[in-house]
Amino acid sequence: MEAVEKLNAHLADVVNLARAAAVLGWDQQTYMPPGGAEARGEQLATLSKLAHEIFASDKTGQLLEEAERALDGADPDSTEAALVRVVRHDYDLETKLPTSLVEALARETTRAHEIWVKAREQNDFASFAPMLERIYDLMREKAEALGYEDRMYDALLDQYEPGAKTAHVAEVFDGLRQELVPFVHQIFERLDAVDHSFLHKEYDVKKQEEFGLEVIRQLGYDFSRGRQDRAVHPFTTNFSINDVRITTRYLPNYLPSALFSSVHEAGHALYELGCDQSLENTMLAGGTSLGVHESQSRLWENIVGRGRPFWQHFYPLLQQTFPEQLGKVDLDAFYRAINFVSRSLIRVEADEVTYNLHIMLRFEMENDLLEGKLAVKDAPEAWNAKMQEYLGITPPNDAQGILQDVHWSSGLVGYFPTYALGTLLSVQFWDKALEDVPSIPDDIAQGNFSTLHDWLRNHIYVHGRKYFPADLVQRVTGEPLQYHSFMRYLRDKYSEIYEL
Ligand code: ZN
Repeated sequence: MEAVEKLNAHLADVVNLARAAAVLGWDQQTYMPPGGAEARGEQLATLSKLAHEIFASDKTGQLLEEAERALDGADPDSTEAALVRVVRHDYDLETKLPTSLVEALARETTRAHEIWVKAREQNDFASFAPMLERIYDLMREKAEALGYEDRMYDALLDQYEPGAKTAHVAEVFDGLRQELVPFVHQIFERLDAVDHSFLHKEYDVKKQEEFGLEVIRQLGYDFSRGRQDRAVHPFTTNFSINDVRITTRYLPNYLPSALFSSVHEAGHALYELGCDQSLENTMLAGGTSLGVHESQSRLWENIVGRGRPFWQHFYPLLQQTFPEQLGKVDLDAFYRAINFVSRSLIRVEADEVTYNLHIMLRFEMENDLLEGKLAVKDAPEAWNAKMQEYLGITPPNDAQGILQDVHWSSGLVGYFPTYALGTLLSVQFWDKALEDVPSIPDDIAQGNFSTLHDWLRNHIYVHGRKYFPADLVQRVTGEPLQYHSFMRYLRDKYSEIYEL
């Protein structure tokens, strides 16, 4: 225990530096005037350098080995064993890359990002192609340095989803795609069945804000331990278990944007706020992976927030808030409208039915590019062919196709699948919650969100990073990641909405 305490005390500085950097990053995206940008960049670089120096030091390695020795044979479910497991995972990630590679990645992704911004503006893939080749060369080097047993992609995926295996994800995606593509095309035949035009009327931003704040307050977001501000790209950030901030943005001509983005970010925040207080200031505070994090934001946003019980409770208040726009729209029409499906070319605009197809396309292409099965010059054609196969549309240009996402230019390969894993897991967790507490939908319809919130807190949130994602999923749901629950959820919900 003493060895673990020493390790914890040493790493508290790393945690504090990361959280101080988070405060500066939050300010940068919310309140900082443009003039502050240059100095802020320097400050963040200094903090991240200091954190890296402490964390990747020989001292951490030595304390970690001592803790591992001291815990040899200890209960693997203990908090101490979990802490050592997580620190080992992060320490290996941080120290296995040679400095020359870390520097090359920083330099080339900065360049790639600038070139990508221009290429997207000018719809010119050819100008980005050499940079993309360079990025994938570096990704291969990175995967080799990090190490993997089976697929090269495993090494990259593990950065965002510890322990996840490419072969398993591919198997789940393949099964899902076979059922999802025909279902999506069935809905596409009936797109006219849902009218969502009234969502695009003028909605006063101040009123949107008041309504959204009331919603997340009722969901259980604690304003004595958080706040909501505006940012161009909504995000959640934490400075401690007791200070988790969210941001949102308002579109005057589209009601769902701010509302669901607030609920989404509040879902991320509830996860962090629900972490057990005993884990405060340790590396176990926070969420266990991007996929599990996304399962919480999407559970609250899509399953709860776009569900009928939620609006049985909130719709009267929304109608009161916007009598001109919604006074004559009944609950059923509103419910169908906020769940409208579209043939979107753009991932971030996709609905919950088609979203995962955008992710599968990227996952498949990332693997093929990484393993050399697909040449960069042929990538736009491969992208367009998959869009046609999955969604029945071909992008008219690369700006709305392969150039749309920032991820690859930032060196984020292996990141995309976490979005889809989150969607699949959100339904698995929801099903289990309903099995344990069947009253949850009725409670929600009455405006009582605490039965769901308590269940999620007690089964998922409290653990922080204690269990790796696959382990957590198995413990909570009694089964591994699968797509059947998600498909059943989609069929039940959308067959009714689109009268299939
Ligand atoms: Zn999210």
